[in-house]
Amino acid sequence: MTRKRVVIIGAGFSGVCLAAHLARRGGKAPRTTLIDKAARFGLGLAYGTQDPAHLLNVRASNMSAFADKPDDFSAWCARQGGISGEFAPRMMFGKYVEQILAQSTGLFAPVSRKRGAVIACTRAGRGWRLTLEGGATLDADAVVLATGNRGAPPLAVLEAAGVAAIDPWDARALHRVPSGDVLMIGTGLTMVDAALTLAAKRNGVIYALSRRGLLPRSHADRVSVQHAPIALPLPLSEALAAFRAEVEAAAAQGEPWQFVMDRLRPQTTELWRRLPIEAQRRFLRHLRPWWDVHRHRMAPPVAAQIAELQREGRLRLLAGELVSVAQRGRSLLVLHRQRGSMVRHRLEVAGIVNCTGGASDVRGFNDPLFQQMLRDGLMRACPNGLGLDIDEEGRVRDAAGAAQAGLFTIGPPTQGALWESTAVPNIRVDAARLAQLL
Ligand SMILES: Cc1cc2nc3c(=O)[nH]c(=O)nc-3n(C[C@H](O)[C@H](O)[C@H](O)COP(=O)(O)OP(=O)(O)OC[C@H]3O[C@@H](n4cnc5c(N)ncnc54)[C@H](O)[C@@H]3O)c2cc1C
Repeated sequence: MTRKRVVIIGAGFSGVCLAAHLARRGGKAPRTTLIDKAARFGLGLAYGTQDPAHLLNVRASNMSAFADKPDDFSAWCARQGGISGEFAPRMMFGKYVEQILAQSTGLFAPVSRKRGAVIACTRAGRGWRLTLEGGATLDADAVVLATGNRGAPPLAVLEAAGVAAIDPWDARALHRVPSGDVLMIGTGLTMVDAALTLAAKRNGVIYALSRRGLLPRSHADRVSVQHAPIALPLPLSEALAAFRAEVEAAAAQGEPWQFVMDRLRPQTTELWRRLPIEAQRRFLRHLRPWWDVHRHRMAPPVAAQIAELQREGRLRLLAGELVSVAQRGRSLLVLHRQRGSMVRHRLEVAGIVNCTGGASDVRGFNDPLFQQMLRDGLMRACPNGLGLDIDEEGRVRDAAGAAQAGLFTIGPPTQGALWESTAVPNIRVDAARLAQLL
């Protein structure tokens, strides 16, 4: 019997983790090919940083690629000489993922790698045909879109002024910014990383502007021993009230709110799925900024560095809106408005960094593969506007809403459908389930 051919597009953590779970199936494993346009496989956007100040935002004890071997990453770190705290540098996790891929290529059912950008995916008989940039094609019985995180969408105010924003993940571009103050648009974890990189090498004030000026909170300095999950009622307003009551009850027991958030996590996807689309949209519009800063937290050593930069006045958070930008010689003249006020304030900065986070509406992706698949009706956006519309097993729905045999996705494109699906502890579970299905 010929073995099934599976092609995974994207060799970030999701693609590699799925390939590793497939390879573990030994004689039952399909012929797996992993394609990525990046030079190094296994890193993706998250673990490609070479700045040791960029730490994981999940404890090492929860970062194994295999849910059934929870200590795999911690044990690997120990073999490398250990880490100084509970939160490892992200570049170290990248090396761990590379090692997992290397192991998978040496197994009974080796995973093969192919470098290239996939620009089209079409039906071919009962399977799929992928076209790579340059014209080469590859046929598969099943295709998995592990295409991951995107860069930030462009900022309209900057585009209108003809000013190029700096990419927060381009360390060389960050270090090329002339001396002076810098403005970051966005105050989330991307801003935190870019601020640490900038502050290590330059003086001047880093301004960080977002609508609410909310900064990610810190992880608690200890781990919860209580794992009883929380079940919240619906509608959303009742869920919020019940959650607040849980936080108050925990505080009365001397427990930090972070433990309550962690106990909610196993229920989040189920709760999300029960929310009507209109309520999901409302959540995304009004509650998401609050959710994000409480759920996606800073490692305590990172939170301490950020607090120190704020105390020194080197990092200043602004809540409000960018109004206009204009080039003035080597500087940029920025007007911004504070939240709730019409008064405009002026800043003169040497550069503007776009830290608004990854684009999530697939209809706006500047990506030939997504554009072709949307045009040909082979995918559609999730009705809440976040990622792809999929069925319960991760099959991509076509323009008419039918789940398509042999076309799957994993990781960030599933966020609209699952909500909790973009971090390692979720991806490894989804990868194991998908490997079984494939
Ligand atoms: C900065 C950052 C930090 C994070 N930190 C953590 C953390 O500490 N802990 C945690 O659990 N989660 C973290 N995350 C969440 C993160 O989403 C997941 O951990 C994981 O990295 C997602 O991996 P992925 O493979 O789905 O996506 P990505 O890492 O984005 O990889 C996708 C890959 O697909 C390739 N690709 C895309 N389209 C094509 C195409 N058409 N042809 C060929 N190749 C293509 C890209 O080149 C890329 O290599 C972080 C995310 C970010 C952005």
